Amino acid sequence: MKFNILTLFPDMFSAVNTSMVGRAVKNGLIDFNVVNIRDFSTDKHKKTDDMPFGGGQGMLLMAQPLWGAMDSVGAQNKRVIYMSPRGKLMDQNLIEDLAQEEEIVILCGHYEGVDQRVLDYWNCEEVSIGDYVLTGGELASMVMIDAVARMIPGVLASREAAVDESVYSGLLEYPQYTQPRSFEGLDVPEVLLNGNHQLIHLWKLEQALRLTRARRPDLFQNFLSRRDELTRPERKVLDKVISEGSEDEQGK
Ligand code: SAM
Repeated sequence: MKFNILTLFPDMFSAVNTSMVGRAVKNGLIDFNVVNIRDFSTDKHKKTDDMPFGGGQGMLLMAQPLWGAMDSVGAQNKRVIYMSPRGKLMDQNLIEDLAQEEEIVILCGHYEGVDQRVLDYWNCEEVSIGDYVLTGGELASMVMIDAVARMIPGVLASREAAVDESVYSGLLEYPQYTQPRSFEGLDVPEVLLNGNHQLIHLWKLEQALRLTRARRPDLFQNFLSRRDELTRPERKVLDKVISEGSEDEQGK
């Protein structure tokens, strides 16, 4: 998959060439084309921003350099994402949808944002990474790229590595432990040491259900609609966690 990134700060993207994504680049699974918007300014001082018409705070990225940058990556035929706090909130569904594309264009805004004509003409899909405001779209785009990259076959060491992760399964991930078995008087739960895979699986499910119910009741509620996909022992665990929930409610 190829990511065309339009930014005023191309150097920031050295960060995506490390770790798992860096390995994917080396293996030819991912390609980055980082485009400096400033290179397309026809202004003699390479100016890229100006004051908004009608007044208002701060500066806006001008249409002219953005037009050139969009043109240079052939954005007219590609899905274009504009990182923006007023965009649709990014979630795993959107990430998996983007991972189906062969190539996308990502526009990173700065200052107070960009001239609206750019967003309209280039058919930009506005995407927010959360209800807070960042200084620029670069960090937001890196969050999106990292999450999309994990969905591209071959990027993770094994596709299974993603299956249990928080959110992918519809539940938050259960607690995990590694060596030593006992540390500072704190012991690893006995069930994880007994080698009984069915018991371990049900324990993990129970922990994931409890955690999700406590922290993300919205995800828990969605998961309930998948009850029919569970095995009988799994359904028993789910029912137990649901009944604990109603006991908690009554005890309030
Ligand atoms: N004036 C804009 C508004 O109120 O919508 C905010 C501009 S912000 C200071 C500068 C740039 O940071 C935006 O153009 C956008 O690219 C990026 N940005 C800020 N917050 C973001 C968020 N939550 N998600 C994605 N991008 C964000």
